Amino acid sequence: MNRITVITRNAALGPLDYRIDDEQQIAMGSLVRVPLGPRQIDGIVWDREMVEVNPVPDHKLRKIIAIADVPPISAPLRRLADWVSDYYVAPLPSILRMVMPSSYALDNARTITEYRANGVLPDRMTPKRAAALDAIADAEGTISELGRIGGVSEAVIRGLIKSGCFDAEQVSIDRPFDLPNPQFAQPKLNEYQAEAAYKMVEQVKAQKFACQMLDGVTGSGKTETYFEAVAEAFLQGKQVLILLPEIALTEPFLDRFEARFGVRPASWHSGMKSTQRRRTWHAIANGSAMALVGARSALFMPFTNLGLIIVDEAHEASFKQEDGVRYQARDTAIMRAMKENVPIILASATHAIETRYMAQLGKYETLTLPSRFGPAKMPSIKSVDLTSEPPERGRWIAPTLLKEIEQRLDMGEQSLLFLNRRGYAPLTLCRTCGTRIECPNCSSWMVEHRFTHRLACHHCGHAMPIPKNCPECDEQDSLVACGPGVERIADEVRDLFPDARTIVATSDTLYSQDRAAEFVRRVEAHEVDIIIGTQLVTKGYHFPDLTLVGIIDADLGLAGGDLRAAERTFQQISQAAGRAGRGAKHGEVYLQSHNPSNPVLQAIVAGDREGFYEQETLSRKSAGAPPFGRLAAIIISSEDEAEAISISRAIGAAAPKIDDLHIYGPAPAPLSMLRGRYRQRLLVQANRQIELQNILRSWIYALEWPRSVRVNIDIDPYNF
Ligand code: ADP
Ligand code: ZN
Repeated sequence: MNRITVITRNAALGPLDYRIDDEQQIAMGSLVRVPLGPRQIDGIVWDREMVEVNPVPDHKLRKIIAIADVPPISAPLRRLADWVSDYYVAPLPSILRMVMPSSYALDNARTITEYRANGVLPDRMTPKRAAALDAIADAEGTISELGRIGGVSEAVIRGLIKSGCFDAEQVSIDRPFDLPNPQFAQPKLNEYQAEAAYKMVEQVKAQKFACQMLDGVTGSGKTETYFEAVAEAFLQGKQVLILLPEIALTEPFLDRFEARFGVRPASWHSGMKSTQRRRTWHAIANGSAMALVGARSALFMPFTNLGLIIVDEAHEASFKQEDGVRYQARDTAIMRAMKENVPIILASATHAIETRYMAQLGKYETLTLPSRFGPAKMPSIKSVDLTSEPPERGRWIAPTLLKEIEQRLDMGEQSLLFLNRRGYAPLTLCRTCGTRIECPNCSSWMVEHRFTHRLACHHCGHAMPIPKNCPECDEQDSLVACGPGVERIADEVRDLFPDARTIVATSDTLYSQDRAAEFVRRVEAHEVDIIIGTQLVTKGYHFPDLTLVGIIDADLGLAGGDLRAAERTFQQISQAAGRAGRGAKHGEVYLQSHNPSNPVLQAIVAGDREGFYEQETLSRKSAGAPPFGRLAAIIISSEDEAEAISISRAIGAAAPKIDDLHIYGPAPAPLSMLRGRYRQRLLVQANRQIELQNILRSWIYALEWPRSVRVNIDIDPYNF
């Protein structure tokens, strides 16, 4: 008799032991269905030596029910999952949820039925049915997806199907992906590109681990360059994984990939339908899909034949997952490349301090693209001192910038106004009593959204109509909007330039792939004169007619005071500035600031990237912050503030006394209340030699706390 260990997707369950018959063969990593009490559950056969199993006597072992007819999860991916579990102090099952996002591998269904509303109304209409039909008017999907979209149970959808309200379509999950053609449209590289591409191609040929930092200024043609490495991987018959930070970027990227390789690659992100998900997961697992473009979760896909990983815009904060398993996708991608023994390329114009430091140490190879591709030059950057040149009362755009916008309109060129604030106004205030309208669930202000006529919390999604009277003093019409959001800037622009065609580009307006694609199409077709957008439009996009970028409030990100503020501001403004003058026409950038002598802004204006990084690296070093020291945050939350405080004090008091291990706090976390829970934070700082995770495990997990308290460990927190 043989004993095997199975890990499920259920974090409440530890590793489970089962038996298989002597003659049965089972590979490590196989997906299996097993009995658990009266139920059946799916899991993955795991290497016993990697996990701690409670010994179950032989005669009590139960037999597995079925083995899925899919390739087993490979050893490198299993070792990656073990590493993530260990490093980020997270239970293995919560990582398997990403490796095996649903039980589909064990489903034998190769075709799935999708439904689409056909306009037929049911004989018996109920308010619930009407609301559901309304919500899913344009949607298509499986019964459970339609239920979710319509906000009703699957039974309601089944009833509507019976009444003939939907057309059904059988979709095959085995429909293959087209094979990319490495020679489809090979560009002629300039000398810098050619040199960088040569070094990347060499690594792909070597097929062993190496990390390369592709450091190219905005518009230098990083994508075309790393596409050469991608082409080489295809020539070798290897799969490629390309990680992008944002779903809004995926669609234009897929087009670019298609222009280069003749086919659209598979993609992977949270907005996908389950049919697409299944099809993609299987095609990656059986090796028939050669390229996958996706957000951070694509990192856990079951590649069988991976040959190269690329992380584009590698500095982006959105690679850090902030709930569930709190992992940094860039670091985890490097670890996956190591486990798979394949090369990885990190591309950006504004690499993270951590990445540059590793390159300095020689652990990553640096490849540089120092100038823009073709005739394009870097934009010239100037600051506008708002103290000496204030905008008109109640307005936010200073005369200098207005004049520049006007000139662009006259010349038929495009402008981008950047402000990293969604909505109309960040704060709503009562003129009479001074009350500021706060979210009832979070320590944050309610943000006015004028397009939807609502106040919304950007942290928990709580929303309400804009009240007519002050909720505190009941005075009529006394609420005023304070400060600008992008919608307010858009109003100002429309007011001043009534003939200009404007577009607001934020996650509120570009929430889907289709909307993002439509945005790109309109800007490219020059149906837009002025874009007003948040950080969402500052990355990746290439609009040749865009020659002016106005940074509405360059001081915004510097105000927070956390240690990453300077780096984040430098990255955001450089990326926004990087949208200007990418074609033949020269670009200009204006930074509006109350404090243009700030060293970060000065470095940007002077185009002194190296100087900025040197300064910032020094200040990180003197603070013992990453990459020089290690950090972990422990977030303790409860609906009861006193409880959150007392438990966090108890945890702090139980900290081990070790040299070079420092505990700061507890203190209110950066968002001290979130979704109705009070949050306290302990920051743990250690030097690099200390085994921080082991210390945390033996310290935190030895303690007990009431069920009403949640304790989350965040290794390498983004905010510190
Ligand atoms: P980056 O990602 O470095 O900001 P992109 O990859 O977007 O820059 O390149 C900028 C523009 O130059 C794009 O329109 C791209 O298609 C074009 N480009 C870059 N390299 C080449 C090349 N070798 N041949 C033709 N066009 C190129
Ligand atoms: Zn809220």
